[in-house]
Amino acid sequence: MRMTAAVMYEQGLPAPFVDSRPFQIEIVDLDGPGEGEVLVQVSAAGLCHSDLSQVAGLRKRTLPVVGGHEGAGVVVEVGAGVSHLAIGDHVVMTSGAGCGHCDQCVRQRPNLCDSVGTSRVAGVLPSGTRRLSLNGKPLYHYSGISSFAQYAVVSTEALVKADPRVPLDIAAMFGCAVVTGAGAVFNGAKVRPGDSVAIIGLGGVGLNSVMAAKLSGAWPIIGIDLIDAKFPLATELGCTHTLQANDPNLVETVKDLTSGGVDFAFEVTAAKSAFKTAFDVTRKGGEVIGIGLGSYEDLHQYPHSMLVAHEKVIRGSVMGSGVAERDIPRYLRYFLEGRLPVDRLMSGTMGFDDLNANLDALDKGSVLRQILLPNS
Ligand SMILES: [Zn+2]
Ligand SMILES: [Zn+2]
Repeated sequence: MRMTAAVMYEQGLPAPFVDSRPFQIEIVDLDGPGEGEVLVQVSAAGLCHSDLSQVAGLRKRTLPVVGGHEGAGVVVEVGAGVSHLAIGDHVVMTSGAGCGHCDQCVRQRPNLCDSVGTSRVAGVLPSGTRRLSLNGKPLYHYSGISSFAQYAVVSTEALVKADPRVPLDIAAMFGCAVVTGAGAVFNGAKVRPGDSVAIIGLGGVGLNSVMAAKLSGAWPIIGIDLIDAKFPLATELGCTHTLQANDPNLVETVKDLTSGGVDFAFEVTAAKSAFKTAFDVTRKGGEVIGIGLGSYEDLHQYPHSMLVAHEKVIRGSVMGSGVAERDIPRYLRYFLEGRLPVDRLMSGTMGFDDLNANLDALDKGSVLRQILLPNS
């Protein structure tokens, strides 16, 4: 079939993206689903900070690639051997799922799957094949999803059936922003009632961590960011305190609020200064949870004697440290119950023509989650 898609030919193009145009809108070809694959009509796709990293080239990908790694849509065709999904099902597309068979997957850590990671970097589906092309030349799949398109052929492992009561433009955010931010709290840190937390970086992912911390009964929930304008919503969603990241007394203030530091500091930005702050505001015996990914080459610093003498733990959390097929339906239910008001994070919707301009808005921190509606 032929369809419209956002294609990236080159990484490393400079801002403003409205001028450099990292995404070119093209009419491309999409082959039907093979064994274990599903054709999804994409209803909505979220624009994520990782897309900015992709544009910047922090992690190299096989090019040219159709962008987008979170989304939601409706199943329109199923390939051979697909039994648990049917035409008409609503699905969330997530790059946090694994192959189901490798050593990490059988240990219930599909977010660390060995084989899916390899195919993701190669720009192919887990089967090793490609379904996308342009004028007979290959186009690659981004993270096995490529949701910046009207349709996507996706492996069933990357699809989670969604409660149809959840609007699809909201459901799209559960594929990356929600699982990453909320999962770091529920699965990575395993926050318990009464634990104190700090969240550094109050964007689309960080605010999911705020909501999950509230749901876990944490107190206080301290939100830290460079942009004061993010504080009112952060407070509405669960922050008991908000602090300016540049405040020279920041660390002392957190220590005063928490009798010596927080149990868990979530670092969402990947900035070196923010990581240092996260380490410094963590109490003796507490944990720093790194969620922001950054570049493969980035080296962060921490005072080593404090790691040892204060028994601090530094832990990474990718795609929510969980099992997408278990967690996403839970989080969707929390949303329907009003306990995870993810809809508050949606800044607006857009068509293909506004994709590059919205990369600029995300880069400036002036929006949380912009949702592409490829078929409207
Ligand atoms: Zn993402
Ligand atoms: Zn696996």
